[in-house]
Amino acid sequence: MTIKFYNSLSRQKEEFVPLDADHIKIYACGPTVYNYAHIGNARMAVVFDQWVRLMKSLYPKVTYVSNITDVEDKIMVAAKEAGVPILEITEKYTRIYNEDMASLGVNAPDIQPKATEHIDDMIALTQVLIDKGHAYAAEGHVLFDVPSDPSYGALSGRSRDEQIAGARVEVAPYKRDPADFVLWKPSSDDQVGWDSPWGRGRPGWHIECSAMAEQHLGLPFDIHGGGADLKFPHHENEIAQSCCANDTATDPTSFAKYWLHNGFVTVEGEKMSKSLGNFLLVHDVIEKFPGPVLRIALLMAHYRQPLDWSDQLLHQSGKLYERIQRAYEILENVDSVRNVDFKESVTSALLDDLNTPLAISRLNSLLSSIFSPEVDEALPNLKGMLEKAIEILGIDVVKDNINDSVSDDDVIKIETLLAERIEAKDNKDYKRSDEIRDELIEMGIAIKDTREGTSWEKI
Ligand SMILES: [Zn+2]
Repeated sequence: MTIKFYNSLSRQKEEFVPLDADHIKIYACGPTVYNYAHIGNARMAVVFDQWVRLMKSLYPKVTYVSNITDVEDKIMVAAKEAGVPILEITEKYTRIYNEDMASLGVNAPDIQPKATEHIDDMIALTQVLIDKGHAYAAEGHVLFDVPSDPSYGALSGRSRDEQIAGARVEVAPYKRDPADFVLWKPSSDDQVGWDSPWGRGRPGWHIECSAMAEQHLGLPFDIHGGGADLKFPHHENEIAQSCCANDTATDPTSFAKYWLHNGFVTVEGEKMSKSLGNFLLVHDVIEKFPGPVLRIALLMAHYRQPLDWSDQLLHQSGKLYERIQRAYEILENVDSVRNVDFKESVTSALLDDLNTPLAISRLNSLLSSIFSPEVDEALPNLKGMLEKAIEILGIDVVKDNINDSVSDDDVIKIETLLAERIEAKDNKDYKRSDEIRDELIEMGIAIKDTREGTSWEKI
């Protein structure tokens, strides 16, 4: 069983070869805690939880580190606006983030370091970069000297002009080069700060992850992940800092061997933004839909593709969750056999660059087989496969909220007809497939064909 994935650093699909198969090490950039998490943050958390679940099913030991950024200018603004200490803001939103993610079936990372607990490591790393000629102090700031890094741009593939444009250059006379970025910046008396060789100040965002990843995983580690929007400048700068500090600037893989990035979320085809009023917070959405339905929705699109959040997506995810609940109900008194697996399983779909749309389509077929098994003796095996699929997909099946407008007997009848219809379509017997559709309509059941399978509902 091997995993293949698209490595953003090499820009190609590769087979995952662990640095040490006895201990897989993964780091993904976590949230900045000053507000409720939006659905884009949730997608990142669910995608990397899914990767970690897959890794943990294959390897004896996996350490997953995902940080909390609890020192940042936006946090200071939020604390000032609310008139409370920073710690009150960061502790509140860290707790809420973890609770919201748990309801989406996201397991807590093995280690969740906080930036403020690693200030000394950041100062030490910054000092090493100065000593090795890759950074310089100026006017209370310390800046990374971008032209000193021969591999800068390796991850994003950005040219020097694009790097400068993307670095959002502010007027900063202390910068030697417009692309240079901040490792340390001064704090005024009313701002949060720590003593350092360059005066009282606070770290830049990028140095946080370089310090925490090295501290908790050692270098190099296997996989670094995050949202695609972090590729530049955040991840590019992490590579620059960590590789230059370790005298391995010419080899960007000497920080993390592989880089995985998830795509962004749109809402009904529009980019999510506060000004458009379509900024979806997990905390609100979770009030209206069960966590597992939201998790399924976030897994419906392939993780590298954009995910369009829509009523239709939620409806489709809700239907799938209902089918899973029903299957558990029907299988309640069946003993499961867990040692079986088959080639076209949910897990094997995930091995191929976390192909969740294919995994969900296979889960749908598996459910169809459970509702209309060829022989009842197949049920223990089918139950085993279902349990395995649900476990790896992280779907928390709660029994009690099934819509009971359709009896279990009718479900079996409907599913049997649907199975027959798939067979008729495979045999190009469109007359029979249309007859079955009509028969279902007469029963008050509407069906809908999608790429992930056929779903049905009571009209
Ligand atoms: Zn980071």
